[in-house]
Amino acid sequence: MLEKMEILDVEKLIGDFEVMTKDAENVQRETLKMILEENGCAEYLQNMGLNGRTDPESFKACVPLVTHKDLEPYIQRVADGAFSPILTGKPITTISLSSGTTQGKPKFVPFNNELMETTLQIYHTSFAFRNREFPIENGKALQFIYSSKHSKTKGGLFAGTATTNVFRNPQFKKAMTAMQSECCSPDEVIVGPDFHQSLYCHLLCGLIFHEEIQLVSSTFAHSIVLAFRTFEQVWEELCDDIREGVLTSRITFPSVRSAMAKLLKPNPELADLIEKKCSRLSNWYGLIPELFPNVKYIYGIMTGSMEPYLKKLRHYAADVPLISADYGSSEGWIGANINPSLPPESTTYAVLPNIGYFEFIPLKENVEGHMQENGNVSFLSTEPKPVGLTEVKVGEEYEVIITSFAGLYRYRLGDVVKVMGFHNSTPELKFVCRRNLMLTINIDKNTEKDLQLAVEEAAKLIAEEKREVIDFSSNVDVSADPGHYVIFWEISGEVSDEVLKECCNCLDRSFVDAGYVSSRKVNAIGPLELRVVWKGTFHKILDHYLRLGAVVSQFKTPRYVGPTNNKVLQILCDNVAKNYFSTAF
Ligand code: AMP
Repeated sequence: MLEKMEILDVEKLIGDFEVMTKDAENVQRETLKMILEENGCAEYLQNMGLNGRTDPESFKACVPLVTHKDLEPYIQRVADGAFSPILTGKPITTISLSSGTTQGKPKFVPFNNELMETTLQIYHTSFAFRNREFPIENGKALQFIYSSKHSKTKGGLFAGTATTNVFRNPQFKKAMTAMQSECCSPDEVIVGPDFHQSLYCHLLCGLIFHEEIQLVSSTFAHSIVLAFRTFEQVWEELCDDIREGVLTSRITFPSVRSAMAKLLKPNPELADLIEKKCSRLSNWYGLIPELFPNVKYIYGIMTGSMEPYLKKLRHYAADVPLISADYGSSEGWIGANINPSLPPESTTYAVLPNIGYFEFIPLKENVEGHMQENGNVSFLSTEPKPVGLTEVKVGEEYEVIITSFAGLYRYRLGDVVKVMGFHNSTPELKFVCRRNLMLTINIDKNTEKDLQLAVEEAAKLIAEEKREVIDFSSNVDVSADPGHYVIFWEISGEVSDEVLKECCNCLDRSFVDAGYVSSRKVNAIGPLELRVVWKGTFHKILDHYLRLGAVVSQFKTPRYVGPTNNKVLQILCDNVAKNYFSTAF
């Protein structure tokens, strides 16, 4: 039983949040001051000529906006073990590898205790709001979490994905206990060296503790869908293990086997029960509440590139609420979901004004300014004029800039957000898309969001045949003139050529960006191509990223595969089963 002392005081947490967000502007000033005081001796800041000034005006005047590329040489020196303070006052001892699934290769970013503290703060804040509406009792969480191998950099610093750095920190377990969300799987499963084996064991642990499971979660929703798709394949094997009390020989790692052996006892009644439950489901609808009768909600990041998985997740969840987890990145946290009863499609994130210093580049103004100058639009070449956290306007879109406690100053995160409103004086942001994911050939520009909407529209045509798009990606093919968009689809079963041809036309018509439509009409962009790939292709892409050191917990299918990401492009192109060209224009 948990001691009362260990459980979070949610009302106090909410009270503190209210006080802080009523004074967001001052809290931002104070936060910047703290960051600059703590790190003022670092070489990077020393070179900026701040001379001890910590006010936002001097900061903006002296310190330039940067991207990861600009900071790479500094971060590399930190990773190589440079002795002097480079980016932060205190030495950095850990490096996070960002998932890299959006860029093609993992990036190094600094991780430190302060970042861990902000992680806990955001976990606690959103938990407080969540628990007020969806209280959980003492029980367990089925968490599909995986940590990557921890390696060492040349300079001897620990390096792992950001989620790994969090999961392995002793504070993480304490926080989960305090949030009554203790993972039902033993640590050996979470840190297990093979993701497929860990996933199987997570499922098995969930079944063993099926009555105690209060929530099902993962960092990103993709992992939950992947887990239950896997369940559909392996449920009979899981039942055999439970019946006999012996773990399948497929699980080979001794540490994982011995941890599981402690939990697994022959339990034919439970095996029978699960078999009965599974056999009475129709097409696995409502699988989650059927298996876990006391589950209160499903939790994980469900916005942005995770939205395409919501349909399948709802299918498994039936009427169990889906709650999107918070908004952050390996570089730092941004906002908490404090309106948990909103469906993921409407989720917003309230920025915590004390976890970093935030600026926002208005997109509309910059794009318009650039259009007037040049007559056409190039998103990233505009001169940005960022505004402060409390200066953003409702309804406008912005690119997020972070200044963190972990050595990033005026760092362009590359995410686009929309301001949906304010909670007291802090903005509530909706995640829109990654800024650099653009399908573009000439004057057209389509973002990840545009692609997602087009795929959603076209997928309705196969939904009529009880088929679904399991995953998708895109690319522009400019090998011949004119270039054209290529959309890759993995589908859950057979679909006739006729319908797929219609899907292809629908995709082409669904990109409504004026630049695209006008280019298509005059054939300055060629007919869109839909390439249907063999089942399992996107799994191969996941495996490819895992080999590169990514971790399933942070995996995001790359929605656009650029020319530099040739390995992924090759996997996609090598697995094309059929292709179709649009006749929509
Ligand atoms: P990583 O590179 O693994 O650190 O991933 C960070 C990126 O994931 C962010 O920059 C966003 O693009 C995306 N992301 C993180 N949280 C959310 C969220 N709540 N909604 C949508 N996208 C998110």
